[in-house]
Amino acid sequence: MSRITLRLFTLVLGCVGISSCNSAKSYEAESARIRAKLDAIPLDEKVQFTNDEWKYILTSLQYYVLRRKGTELPFANAYWHTHENGTYICAACGNPLFSSEAKYDSGTGWPSFWQPIGGEAVKAASHSSFGGSEITCARCGSHLGHVFDDGPKPTGLRYCMNSVALKFVKAPAK
Ligand code: FE
Repeated sequence: MSRITLRLFTLVLGCVGISSCNSAKSYEAESARIRAKLDAIPLDEKVQFTNDEWKYILTSLQYYVLRRKGTELPFANAYWHTHENGTYICAACGNPLFSSEAKYDSGTGWPSFWQPIGGEAVKAASHSSFGGSEITCARCGSHLGHVFDDGPKPTGLRYCMNSVALKFVKAPAK
């Protein structure tokens, strides 16, 4: 390799390095900006982000379930068998959704609850192809799972949720 070719090669490599470094930096800056925007919204106010904005702060699996109404695999998710005391919040916006007190083992392989944490936590939409009604977060509109009418007493409801749409916040030890 001649000296000039070598210099040219080094120059090209350097440019590629700088441009990919810059795009990684701007991606990080944009995610930090959107996360800060989300953190600044009080919990009792709605969150209205575009899917492009959500993409910056959600993992690809979270985005697939929460924003594209995807469903994760049963028995191969974080919370289907969790029995600890605490609160399940929306993985997108942090809205408290379900208490562990309303969690039960439905045998389906998905985290299941017989009621949401409060009347305003989630929204039920019309019946879907799953046979249940779609459940979304009342604060940010993200897809969480479905509700069916074969749950235990006292409500008779089964809120069948995707673990990846939730974040478990453990209750402090008493
Ligand atoms: Fe939410």
